[in-house]
Amino acid sequence: MSFAAFKFHPQIQSALDNCGYEAPTPIQNQAIPPVLAGRDLLGLAQTGTGKTAAFILPILQRLHAGTRGKIRALIVAPTRELAEQTHTYIGNMAKHTHLRSIVVYGGVSKHAQINNIRRGADIVVACPGRLLDLVNDRVINLSAVEMLILDEADHMFDHGFLPDIRRILKTLPTKRQTLVFSATMPKEIRSLAEDILINPATVQIDHTKPTASISHAFYQVEQRDKATLLRKILKEKDVATAIVFTRTKHKAKNLGLQLQKAGFRATSMQGNLSQQKRQEALDGFKNGTYNIMVATDIAARGIDVSGISHVINFDMPATAETYTHRTGRTGRASCTGEAFTFAAADDYKMIKALEQSLGQTLVYQTIAGFKSTPQPISGITEAQRPCSRTARKPGPVRGKRNSPRNQSEAFDFGLSTRA
Ligand code: AMP
Repeated sequence: MSFAAFKFHPQIQSALDNCGYEAPTPIQNQAIPPVLAGRDLLGLAQTGTGKTAAFILPILQRLHAGTRGKIRALIVAPTRELAEQTHTYIGNMAKHTHLRSIVVYGGVSKHAQINNIRRGADIVVACPGRLLDLVNDRVINLSAVEMLILDEADHMFDHGFLPDIRRILKTLPTKRQTLVFSATMPKEIRSLAEDILINPATVQIDHTKPTASISHAFYQVEQRDKATLLRKILKEKDVATAIVFTRTKHKAKNLGLQLQKAGFRATSMQGNLSQQKRQEALDGFKNGTYNIMVATDIAARGIDVSGISHVINFDMPATAETYTHRTGRTGRASCTGEAFTFAAADDYKMIKALEQSLGQTLVYQTIAGFKSTPQPISGITEAQRPCSRTARKPGPVRGKRNSPRNQSEAFDFGLSTRA
């Protein structure tokens, strides 16, 4: 199927042509027709599937027909980055249409956002907290909203935003079209969807499986050796651009700094940074000033940077869904990508969960010249362990690691003592 089949207005089609998309992705094929027809929709799709265009394009088409300058579409997103990114995407797709989008989220002054609202807009992209503030301040009027889109609804739930969402719903006209997108379907989201969607079309795109265009490699490594392994991989594995995930904000910050000191073009993004610093880090990563971004899960949500070649799980994600979400930062659209995951001794349960999710027994990789103290990952049988690594005799390269220089490096980089 080609985009021509949707018969978008030429002003929308010409922006679409500029994107260079050759054909709609599966979620676009399935979601665009019912949304164009005015139906409610439940979209089960992970990030990287093209879900943003799946709702933005038909929304623009529907808005194009009506009056301008009233807020007729409201898109609610769980993070500032996702809100900003969606707003930018609308800007690109709507540039010939005179439809105007504004974005509102917390962590920055309200002033500029209020001015933007006063100038008039057709679409608002918002994070729940700031939107409610503006509604309560009577700065924003949602009484003309015809279309509501809840994006990454499961993350809204993770962030504790569901009560805010229910408050927002009370301010909207009941007669509207509602779209809910979620990568997973916890019972709270199912019940929200049942409450707010009327006879929805349901579209489901491989929501539990990691994206097929990504290859997955696992390295068994002790906590204290992770940083050494990371540097080795960054140097030797042809890593063009990478997001490195850590479990804690502190670790993301320190690892980013230490990589910088070691000469890598690295930055970090974590929840303790001001919105301005987060945006600077993201912009620097997007424009190529940095090619390595160390980030926590919260900060990395919604990042859509094209051409990320690698995702490196410095720390194991907490759930298989998070693994899917993280690794979905690479292999986006039709590109391929590689995911490297560091597995430490206490990650056994997660490894089992990932084996189930990936549908394969994990095979561990080794990297020439790198040794980590062999300590079996409890519960994994000999046969499952990486042959070359477990076959090695205990007794790592002590002389080297214990030299004063290497000790301080291990302390700086290892970070395991501070996790
Ligand atoms: P999303 O899942 O919305 O975050 O989109 C992931 C990436 O896919 C974004 O960089 C989009 O620009 C890109 N994309 C969306 N639709 C298509 C398409 N039909 N063909 C190629 N790339 C696409």
